[in-house]
Amino acid sequence: MTDTTRDNPYRQLPSIDEVLRALPGEIERWGREAVTEALRERLSELRREIAAGGTVDVESLRADLNRHLEAADTPTLKPLYNLTGTVLHTNLGRALLPRRAIDAMAIAAANPSNLEFDLETGGRGERETHVEHLVCALTGAEAATVVNNNAAAVLLVLNSLALGREVPVSRGELVEIGGSFRIPEVMERSGCRLVEVGATNRTHLKDYRRAIGPDTALLMKVHTSNYEVQGFTKAVPEGDLAALAHEHALPFVTDLGSGNLVDFAALGLPPEPTAAEAIAGGADLVTFSGDKLLGGPQAGIIAGRADLVRIVRQNPLKRALRLDKVTLAALAEVLKLYRNPARLLRELPTLRLLTRDAAQISAQAARLAPAVAELIGAFCSVSVEDCQSQIGSGSLPVETLPSSALCLRPSGDSGQSVGALAARLRDLPRPVIGRVHRGALWLDLRCLDSGDEQHFLDQFRQLNR
Ligand SMILES: *Cc1c(COP(=O)(O)O)cnc(C)c1O
Repeated sequence: MTDTTRDNPYRQLPSIDEVLRALPGEIERWGREAVTEALRERLSELRREIAAGGTVDVESLRADLNRHLEAADTPTLKPLYNLTGTVLHTNLGRALLPRRAIDAMAIAAANPSNLEFDLETGGRGERETHVEHLVCALTGAEAATVVNNNAAAVLLVLNSLALGREVPVSRGELVEIGGSFRIPEVMERSGCRLVEVGATNRTHLKDYRRAIGPDTALLMKVHTSNYEVQGFTKAVPEGDLAALAHEHALPFVTDLGSGNLVDFAALGLPPEPTAAEAIAGGADLVTFSGDKLLGGPQAGIIAGRADLVRIVRQNPLKRALRLDKVTLAALAEVLKLYRNPARLLRELPTLRLLTRDAAQISAQAARLAPAVAELIGAFCSVSVEDCQSQIGSGSLPVETLPSSALCLRPSGDSGQSVGALAARLRDLPRPVIGRVHRGALWLDLRCLDSGDEQHFLDQFRQLNR
């Protein structure tokens, strides 16, 4: 240490300009402003360390700075392993898109396209032509329109068809979907008046009949997607409700929630009504999500009678809720897959994961358990357990799918709680999200792709440190 630094230890710190001059590469990569800002922060940290009587290592400044800038540059939205057992996990991004949809998104994003341009006439086109015929072919609807998500679809339909008027809904269907989507509140915001019908557990056709008056705009059925009313219950069959609506020349609207397009029972899955069945059963309009059972991008689909779809489309709110070109491109590809059932099951991740064979998942668990035990056995026991996966996103809340989990239990002498173990797995470069249950961390392997197994295992090595 020289005399001057002994007198004034802050002298050992270089000036900002001095350091900046030595970092042309960093400035090129991250931009002068970001580098300067990070440098200021790092230098003031060093000053605090000096003030606290510490010695500072100016040499490590550059490496620190790069670590800092690198961290600030990594996306906050990260891929992770969803081993929660909930296939369509709303907080973890719901449906994964098939390859062909992802490719179409990249092309739509990178190039000008005929989004709203008619290549035949050279005149203006309609953006929905890219998906409408597909929705119609798959649901039997006369017409269809698409918006940002199903919440927007419900809002738009009610605002278009029932503004300032009454909509009777069963008390058993006044659902909260989560994330503050509550049917009564959406109805209020859409500008229509909710007329509650029947009781929580039982609603009869006569209740609806009594609720219909001169101000009634439509009848609506909401698929109680995330819970089930069991026991002494009664709901009016959709066909009866449709007939009643039509008797009064009112449209009958069904919010299906999930929007399933295939016969689930034929796939060995719990039965779930399809959009086509709802329309054939008398619904004049149905609304459903793009990224729940459909397995596509976030979108809301409105399908049904052409005159009603036209009214919905002409609502000025439609412009505020419309789909962007990238999502449209993905949705079109996913819908096209549905026209080819053999490819659908192979290529659509949602259906592939939902229909995975329990024996295959169990074999995967048996294969991985010893390898995981070898890597983290020092502080954790690893066993293979049967478990139940959930479909998620409020779809089929009661039905579960048999699956297998790696069950990680911190050993007694490790002093580690299961909560702490879960936190360490969340902290991995590609976080692993499981489910804490009965003192263990359960990693349901239904959603672990075999192609990811090696990387998944490699990460456990880092836990040993
Ligand atoms: C999920 C759901 C919605 C909302 O759909 P998003 O696509 O998430 O906006 C609305 N209604 C029902 C019945 C639902 O299950």
